[in-house]
Amino acid sequence: MISHYSGISPTGDLLLLQKLGAKLKKKSFLHINSTKAGGGVAEILQRMIPIMNGLGIKTRWEIIEGDDRFFDITKKIHNAIQGNPETITKDMWDHHYEINKINAGRLDLEANAVLIHDPQPAPLIKFRKKGKWIWRCHIDVSNPVKEVCDYLMRYCSKYNAAVFSVARFARAMAIDEFIIPPSIDPLSDKNRDLTHEEISETMNRLQIPVDRPILLQVSRFDRFKDPVGVIEAYKTVRKYNDCILVLAGSPATDDPEGEMVLNEVRDYASDDPDIHIHLLPPFSDRDINALQRGATIILQKSLKEGFGLTVSEAMWKAKPVIGGAVGGIPLQIVHGATGFLVHSVEGAAFRIRQYLNNPEMARRMGEKGREYVRNNFLITRQTRDYLSIWYSLENKGKNILEL
Ligand code: UDP
Repeated sequence: MISHYSGISPTGDLLLLQKLGAKLKKKSFLHINSTKAGGGVAEILQRMIPIMNGLGIKTRWEIIEGDDRFFDITKKIHNAIQGNPETITKDMWDHHYEINKINAGRLDLEANAVLIHDPQPAPLIKFRKKGKWIWRCHIDVSNPVKEVCDYLMRYCSKYNAAVFSVARFARAMAIDEFIIPPSIDPLSDKNRDLTHEEISETMNRLQIPVDRPILLQVSRFDRFKDPVGVIEAYKTVRKYNDCILVLAGSPATDDPEGEMVLNEVRDYASDDPDIHIHLLPPFSDRDINALQRGATIILQKSLKEGFGLTVSEAMWKAKPVIGGAVGGIPLQIVHGATGFLVHSVEGAAFRIRQYLNNPEMARRMGEKGREYVRNNFLITRQTRDYLSIWYSLENKGKNILEL
């Protein structure tokens, strides 16, 4: 498996992965989250489990099951952790715990290392058997509702370590904390190389003209992704430069606001024939890949963001990118080098024009972006980081670890 990444991932990462794999071979690693499909966590796990197994580590991936009430409660916990005002009553916390208890009876929790993803399965720590338990937080905990966060931390503080995606998201905890940003898989359908025919097929089927520069944003229809701001920027640019705009996103079935936002976006686009709004079915990975490869400039003009995987996806395709300076986007875009960070519609319009008027500069920045992703945001690096943490926890107290 790892050999498939040679020539793509940095050699140092692959070497370290192999060495860590040799040290941890035959040991067992268990990941637990709450869904097999949908969202970045599942997307990464799907690709990471085979890599870990390929290294000889006995890796399993389990999901917790719950009733509708459980997922209502965990959604509220999630929102509160990200700062929305929500109250979680004692009764709700009890249900959260009880469902985890049932899952603890159902699942085999025996493993040398257990990585628990996000708040939903956090109480499983109460049922630990042995091994190192690590809590992996994928969400923004920088400004949570205090009471909710304090209650959750009662569970999290019992783990051996906690992992956050971005330093600013981390909390002051009494256990070891690590920062591990997410990653993309260069070999997945979303990111693998495509032939010109494959790209053309998607562009033709979606009726996107390719005779002019294409601006693209791929995102759920969510106000925090600022699709209306993207259209405003495009409209400013259109006064001076010819181009088309493509907004692509999946229907957000679990998001009651999704349809409303989509309607707002359609209204705002009005009858401009050069704005193409595409509602893609779930699992449109190859089409998204083709759209990204067919685009001239890729935007992620978010107003609030977790990590923003779409930015790494775009940079991996050597595209010039423009991103809102929020969440994990500034980790990926080094302003002026691997892309541009913006704080306003005017800023976005200015940078779009700068790219359109300087194609050679845009090409160079796109190339730099690809190398930046190669060195920092590929799945081999993230797997290496998880194994490093595990290995260091197994050897806690030693000053020097030999590989
Ligand atoms: N995505 C997708 N279909 C869509 C919109 C987004 O598959 O219609 C993918 C996108 O390519 C990326 C992920 O969903 O891999 C979104 O992750 P990101 O971190 O950018 O934002 P989130 O949606 O998690 O806030």
